[in-house]
Amino acid sequence: MKMIFQKIKESIKKVPFSHWSYDTLFLVIIVVIVVSGIYLNTQFVRISKNIDSLSLRVVSLEDSFSSTTKNLEENIAKTHSDLSSALSQEKESLEDKLSDYRKDVKNISGTIDTLEKLSKTDPELLQKYSKVFFLNEYYQPVSLAEIPGEYKYTDLKTLKIHTEVLPYLEEMIDDARKDGLDIYISSAFRSFNEQNALKTNYSVTYGVGTANQFSADQGYSEHQLGTTVDLITTGLNGQLTGFEMTEAYTWLKENAYKYGFVISYPENNQFYIFEPWHWRFVGVKLAKYLHNQDKNFYDLDQRKIDEYLVYLFD
Ligand SMILES: [Zn+2]
Repeated sequence: MKMIFQKIKESIKKVPFSHWSYDTLFLVIIVVIVVSGIYLNTQFVRISKNIDSLSLRVVSLEDSFSSTTKNLEENIAKTHSDLSSALSQEKESLEDKLSDYRKDVKNISGTIDTLEKLSKTDPELLQKYSKVFFLNEYYQPVSLAEIPGEYKYTDLKTLKIHTEVLPYLEEMIDDARKDGLDIYISSAFRSFNEQNALKTNYSVTYGVGTANQFSADQGYSEHQLGTTVDLITTGLNGQLTGFEMTEAYTWLKENAYKYGFVISYPENNQFYIFEPWHWRFVGVKLAKYLHNQDKNFYDLDQRKIDEYLVYLFD
């Protein structure tokens, strides 16, 4: 600094002015320099302050920006989560509805199947007939099949049975034979007129009172349905009487329900005498129910029986 002033002094001295003029000029220059210095310093301080203030502002803005960004991120995340949850709930609700809808469709198609099956099943086949309901004179089973000779006690007459019942009957007799028991069919489907003739015949032979105890009037006979058989075994000379004493009867009591057959008129029934030979097909499901409940077909309400119509040939 000193050197600079010295040089300025020397330079001024080279200019041709009077001695005081140099000093004055020198003083003026110094003053100018000092004033400029003060001014510049003031400006520098002011700018520094501005910079500091701006720096603080920038920091504050950065903080604000960072906090705003954070809030936005949180809001976006929350909105995303809310939307996801709403969507997921909506999806679950739709899936539930779809599942309900599928169940409805299944139920409806099940109901349609049941109705179709019922429409094809003759409701007479599970009606109670013994002096309770009257079977129309013109009633004929939808389809009758001839019973093969090996299942008949005698080949003298043709025996027929409801076509759909025949396989159950054959299987039952085959299985009994496997167990060493001879079971034959002595009587099966009987038309209104055949039953009428039979009853008249019985009435002539035994008298009306006795005949009424063991033979149904025409129109009340289960034989007209085509689902009922009278069974017989060897050792009884072709008679039905005494069948309850045979092993064949014991076997039927224990097993016939598995093939859908039940005894219509057991001991102490309120309709006819005990008919151990007379077996009616009511379907495996109903026969099993009766067996498990230790009940007879005629003990049930018709409404209860009708619930099993749809399962008749299952
Ligand atoms: Zn009979």
